[in-house]
Amino acid sequence: MQKKLCLAAALIAASLFSPGLRAQTTMESSYENWPSYQGDDLELKVDNSGTHFALWSPKAEAVKVNIYATDRNTAPVRTLTMTRDKDGLWRASVPEKLYGKFYTFNVTVNGRELAETPGVWAKAAGTNGMRAAVIDLDTTDPEGWDKDHGPKIDNITDAVIYEMHHRDFSGHPSSGIVHKGKFLALTEPETKSPEGLKTGIGHLNELGVTHVHILPSYDYNSVDEENLQIPQYNWGYDPFNYNLPEGSYSTDPANPSARIKEMKEMIKALHDAGIGVVMDVVYNHTANNDDSNFSLTAPGYYYRHRADGSYSDASGCGNETASEREQMRNFIVNSVKYWADEYHIDGFRFDLMAIHDTETMNRVAEELKKINPSIFVYGEGWTAGDSPLPVERRALKENVSKMKGIAVFSDDIRDAIKGHYSNAADRGFATGKPGNEETVKIGIVASTAHPQVDYSKGNNSKFAYAAAPTQIINYVSCHDDLTLTDKLAKSMTGSTEADRQRAARLAQTIVFTSQGTPFMFAGEEVFRDKKGVHNSYKSPDSINAIDWSLKSRNAEQFGYYRNLIKLRREHPAFRMTTAEDIARNIVFDKVKVPNVVSYTIRNNANGDEWREIKLIFNGADTPYTASVPKGTWTVIARDGQLDPDGLDTVKGGKLEVAPVSALILAR
Ligand code: CA
Repeated sequence: MQKKLCLAAALIAASLFSPGLRAQTTMESSYENWPSYQGDDLELKVDNSGTHFALWSPKAEAVKVNIYATDRNTAPVRTLTMTRDKDGLWRASVPEKLYGKFYTFNVTVNGRELAETPGVWAKAAGTNGMRAAVIDLDTTDPEGWDKDHGPKIDNITDAVIYEMHHRDFSGHPSSGIVHKGKFLALTEPETKSPEGLKTGIGHLNELGVTHVHILPSYDYNSVDEENLQIPQYNWGYDPFNYNLPEGSYSTDPANPSARIKEMKEMIKALHDAGIGVVMDVVYNHTANNDDSNFSLTAPGYYYRHRADGSYSDASGCGNETASEREQMRNFIVNSVKYWADEYHIDGFRFDLMAIHDTETMNRVAEELKKINPSIFVYGEGWTAGDSPLPVERRALKENVSKMKGIAVFSDDIRDAIKGHYSNAADRGFATGKPGNEETVKIGIVASTAHPQVDYSKGNNSKFAYAAAPTQIINYVSCHDDLTLTDKLAKSMTGSTEADRQRAARLAQTIVFTSQGTPFMFAGEEVFRDKKGVHNSYKSPDSINAIDWSLKSRNAEQFGYYRNLIKLRREHPAFRMTTAEDIARNIVFDKVKVPNVVSYTIRNNANGDEWREIKLIFNGADTPYTASVPKGTWTVIARDGQLDPDGLDTVKGGKLEVAPVSALILAR
């Protein structure tokens, strides 16, 4: 999904591209011939022989390094002239260890010296990331870091993913958290809402999610780190320095070690609580065009262009990167490897992943699995605009079967359950709109081939695009677009809040019992809203921050979500790993009325203790009478209540499924 921030930038970019860039188009094909460099010592390395700089810029005519004593507002204390080396590198060294110093590069091309840049591989920086910093990364490791690791999981389908923004999660006064909107918020134990209920990390454990997915936490452009006394909110889909954390989430952006140390402390605290950390990564575009760190180090190379020389714009943000070129591919692969190694990151979510090519994504998955087999990768299997990259090479949802070890978001199940994302008034299966039944079934089988699912009736995709359920992320809302709460309010005209909470329960019950991996937006478990704002990328905290008093007010809703997650985690039948298992173990019932989907998971699927699980979803406003096979069943969910240990037992036969509810039976 796209951030409107970027669309404005795109219009400006289209009108302002420079003649210099136009001249480079003739080079578009020759970019493929530029030398590449695979080493991990790019830009800065400190060892016993001194401090070594190495910038990749094959077409530069000269490169210099500026050394500074402070992170801003001072003249260089020293300038080094770099020397051309092989593989497109420029090198300079000094015999001292320059710890505590800052540096930038100036590259000269076509007789013109470009503006200063911290480079593309800065691993530490000062305020606003303008000057890279020389620090000893070992000194940023928290106590016990060498033994730190995230949860071990066999398959992504064992994960329950919780998507959060730092300020949403801890920014509201009701969070009871000291370090509001900071990395350190997720290190504070025993924090409470005004009503005495758990917030912060304790809340996550109580809810039972396995992984948090943090919105962009690399150094992004939009928040001015020099003026944090002014509240500033941004989602952060505007990358500046890819390989170091965002300064505004630290307690001291001017101290290059603080953001690194504090982010590691956050990760360690989550790991200690048994929770993994997924990072949202945005390699598909940069915040700036000609002024980006890519453009200031190797102009032209890292981006795709149109025939007229302007930046192509599949991101809707004014540019798109060129993952098919060797050095850009190396950059993406080495960058995620760095986050996995240095920060112990457990998963990556690729923004607008289809701007990247499938070969790059396959390399990403392969290399990460070598570091830690529990790491998983998923992304948005679409672009925000057209791209020069041929469709068959794009890491699209429809191409996911070519990408082993990569999962994509299912917009199929999302829109089928709640109604179309871009039309606020549109309803879906869970809110009484007929015609979405087959797409809900597509969601249940995780877009894999199933003999009883007719893909020609699918709303979005017309074929079984996933080779396995491990390739699908199921969700009904995320940071983009209306929250589920707001979507229900805008589409269920004349409804009460109780009606809408009931619909939310049905919607999430479908998501969490479907094959694939469930994903939820932070705060939906307490029925948070965003006051109807769909694109809240820079809305104030008053729109975005979760009011934790809702946890008390909507205690039953929270209890339902917690039980739903428990149900999924206790029962492998909801977490099958192959398309064959799904086709063999899931049997749909013939249903003659709209807004009902009924199916059975049989054969102690995936080693489940339950031989058979019967699930009937009724999205209509009238009761549905189901025929359930004779015998004794444990009632797991009924009429808006859910308990994995059983609510009751019933005999089979004719059973009523209340309007807008799920009936789940097991034996
Ligand atoms: Ca920043």
